[in-house]
Amino acid sequence: TVAVVLFTSDLRLHDHPPLRAALAAADEVVPLFVRDPAVHAAGFDAPNRSAFLADCLTDLDGSLRRRGGRLVVRGGPVAEVVCRVVTECRATEVHMAAGVSAHAHRREQRLRDALDAGGTALHVHDSVITAVAPGAVTPAGNDHYAVFTPYFRRWSQEQPREVCPAPRAVSVPEAARGERLPDRGRLSGLSPGLPAGGETAGRARLSRWTRSSLDGYEDGHDDLAGDATSRLSPYLHFGALSPVEVVQRARARGGGGAEAFVRQVCWRDFHHQVLSARPDASVRNYRDRHDRWRTEEDAADDITAWREGRTGYPVVDAAMRQLRHEGWMHNRGRLLAASFLTKTLYVDWRIGARHFLHLLVDGDIANNQLNWQWVAGTGTDTRPNRVLNPVRQGLRHDPTGAYVRRWVPELKDVDERLVHEPWRLPEDERDGLGYPAPLIDLADGLARFQRARDRD
Ligand code: FAD
Repeated sequence: TVAVVLFTSDLRLHDHPPLRAALAAADEVVPLFVRDPAVHAAGFDAPNRSAFLADCLTDLDGSLRRRGGRLVVRGGPVAEVVCRVVTECRATEVHMAAGVSAHAHRREQRLRDALDAGGTALHVHDSVITAVAPGAVTPAGNDHYAVFTPYFRRWSQEQPREVCPAPRAVSVPEAARGERLPDRGRLSGLSPGLPAGGETAGRARLSRWTRSSLDGYEDGHDDLAGDATSRLSPYLHFGALSPVEVVQRARARGGGGAEAFVRQVCWRDFHHQVLSARPDASVRNYRDRHDRWRTEEDAADDITAWREGRTGYPVVDAAMRQLRHEGWMHNRGRLLAASFLTKTLYVDWRIGARHFLHLLVDGDIANNQLNWQWVAGTGTDTRPNRVLNPVRQGLRHDPTGAYVRRWVPELKDVDERLVHEPWRLPEDERDGLGYPAPLIDLADGLARFQRARDRD
């Protein structure tokens, strides 16, 4: 017998319940990845993520080959391609991970309908893409948690499923034919500091980081220059690492660092369960507030300056330049850059979210859109009117100015007392920097935000 395993956001062999179930049920398995034109049509295949994806697929193929198998990559609408592979290989069942976004729900429904018509069974597995499946824990009277802390409390009590080992051997039927794997080397427009993708690289990073840096996470994770976070987000986004295993490995290490880290991984599940219940939150305000944001036409110059890291607020500019250079940004930088765009410039969060999605290697509909909404005050933040001050935040989270100096070379010689406020330098020094004056007075931005808040 033959089973098909459809890989989506779960590009790994370790801890892969759909693959394990397929191997238990059938003699041969087709590990299939479909290049979906809908992803391209939505503009979601931005260069940085396409490169990371190419690495993930190449790595997965290599790992399967070492076990006697190979990855089958095909292009086309998912339901059609899977049905074709089922027919060609005479498969009797298909296994896949449950998805979260509206796109994933539609894909699953189309696939179910198409396979039902041919009498092929579809098995959809939970808790592959998140540690706890969306909807597995709910508060009384609602289909999802809208507040993080009670969710975290309940999530922490869940008994995690057992982590399953990678298979030793995978036998793929002759009839399963695929295309050439995508190649990172053929892509252009990549951020120069992009990390290598794939399960092998992800597992190496997880081991190294758990051993050497996890203990310092609680104290160091907000230090912009310290680089004390795991940088596991792209591996989690593509499923090159299992969130269940990541949580298990951190808990096994124990201590305050591990606890703080697991709490962050829970944020990922939190946003996924919100999106799963409210797929429209990827484009519409989750809460009914702020419906008169400034648009691309109202604020073209401000938006361009923000995108290019030329707002005149050093910590915001450093964060935006890190994004362009690495395809990744420190979480504190994301908070500051997003708060500046939405609350200081009063620009629609969707404009910022789109720019982030274009560059972020971990760009993820659940995490990106719902974090943007959280910052903009239209989402799940219980203090939606807080506004982050980029000067105070810079002094607090980059006290020596090392982060600013790394990304904004115009300020590399500015003394640490003024690196977050270069406009206070004597005029002749300031003029020689080649760094812009502040785009807006923070007090003016705050007053506009407060007027909008009061109107709501
Ligand atoms: P660590 O601090 O090591 O945390 C470990 C893991 O926990 C991360 O890899 C991530 O999977 C998860 N995590 C941490 N913080 C959050 C959070 N606030 N929300 C959800 N999950 C979290 N994360 C993405 O994965 N994709 C995105 O597209 C994304 N967009 C964001 C946009 C904005 C405006 C903001 C404020 C945050 C966004 N985040 C996003 C969340 C967070 O910034 C990143 O997950 C984190 O910076 C990744 O770095 P790390 O792996 O070193 O994190």
